[in-house]
Amino acid sequence: MTQIVLLGSGFAALTAVRELRRRKVQAQITVISPRDELHYLPSSIWIPAGLRTPKGLRLPLAGFFARHDVRHLKARVTGLATASRTVETDAGPVTADHILIATGGRFLKKLPGIENAIIPCEGLAPAEALAARFDALREGTIAIGMATNPAEPGAMRGGPMFEYAFILDTLLRRQGRRDAVRIVFFSPAERPGARLGEKAVDGILAEFARRGIETHLGHKMTRIDPGRVVTEGGEIAADLILFQPGMTGPDWLAASDLPLSPGGMVKADAMCRVEGAPGIWVAGDAGSYPGPDWMPKQAHQADLQAAAAAANIASELAGQAPTKRFTPELVCIMDTLDSGMLVFRRGKLNLVLPRMKPLHWLKRAFERHYLRTYR
Ligand SMILES: Cc1cc2nc3c(=O)[nH]c(=O)nc-3n(C[C@H](O)[C@H](O)[C@H](O)COP(=O)(O)OP(=O)(O)OC[C@H]3O[C@@H](n4cnc5c(N)ncnc54)[C@H](O)[C@@H]3O)c2cc1C
Repeated sequence: MTQIVLLGSGFAALTAVRELRRRKVQAQITVISPRDELHYLPSSIWIPAGLRTPKGLRLPLAGFFARHDVRHLKARVTGLATASRTVETDAGPVTADHILIATGGRFLKKLPGIENAIIPCEGLAPAEALAARFDALREGTIAIGMATNPAEPGAMRGGPMFEYAFILDTLLRRQGRRDAVRIVFFSPAERPGARLGEKAVDGILAEFARRGIETHLGHKMTRIDPGRVVTEGGEIAADLILFQPGMTGPDWLAASDLPLSPGGMVKADAMCRVEGAPGIWVAGDAGSYPGPDWMPKQAHQADLQAAAAAANIASELAGQAPTKRFTPELVCIMDTLDSGMLVFRRGKLNLVLPRMKPLHWLKRAFERHYLRTYR
């Protein structure tokens, strides 16, 4: 029987499972990941407000795997040999006819003193740690910042850091603590969030000003010390530092012969084929793809890439040439806890809906709808 192996059990891998089965692919599908759970990180921004709990955002996948006739191998990928299509794992080697790499990205940790900041997007545990530190802060400064991967400027995830700035501001106001706590947003970019489009950046900067969120922009970062962020343009003394570094590919790529992009991600074409490696595909944050410079590292984009990869695997198994290209598309509701701003990009279209209450509820409705498949 044909063997398809999916590496990871995040957005891209699970969408690929659904698409392969929807296309009636008759193959043994094996998912390799350290846990049979989906961690729905987009809603982790609501943990400090108590709107979501880490437990509620961990979705067990045993039922989903059973419904889709998927074997889950609880293991960590440690390497890959392209010619033999062999995946090395800490539970032994696995060989397949088709391999989809979907193990996500990783944050760069090169900035000196980065351990003095919380990287809230690294998972549910840091989001929980942030919530505890935020609760304990009676007065002082919260510094919130982000940077990119200098070797691949598109390899970054800024949206959640804007959301944290807005959400913590809303929470402090609700709790009557805002006058005692400064919020400072920092970034080496003079106009952070450029991939969202000029109009969106104007909207974000206007919202910072409206909320009294100070900015420290356009200065290269030097280091993070306990209690301060140091940049070439000065320092920010801070009691709580949230920082989102640029992204790179997963660490196990170092033990593979996969082609890598300048930023360290798996190099693929617009059909999600890994360059020069037949039968090997990539979707989501682990890959580097041709497309517009605003192409996001987002769950939505990961889903579109996974659907294209699954369609192309199905074509190859049916003896046809793959033809499905994924659509570069950015959809983001930037939440503020009591409202949201919507940004959409596809082709030349760049739509921005200004901050309004229903968009907060739309984001919550989308979460409920999206997770229904896995519950
Ligand atoms: C706070 C926050 C808010 C966000 N908000 C949004 C949003 O509003 N909209 C949006 O579209 N996106 C959002 N994102 C981004 C989105 O979560 C990511 O882009 C998405 O998770 C990428 O999907 P992926 O499948 O490529 O990787 P991931 O979802 O990261 O999945 C990777 C999988 O691989 C597994 N894995 C890792 N290493 C190994 C290994 N060595 N061996 C085996 N398995 C491994 C992991 O356990 C996991 O199952 C947000 C992210 C965060 C953190």
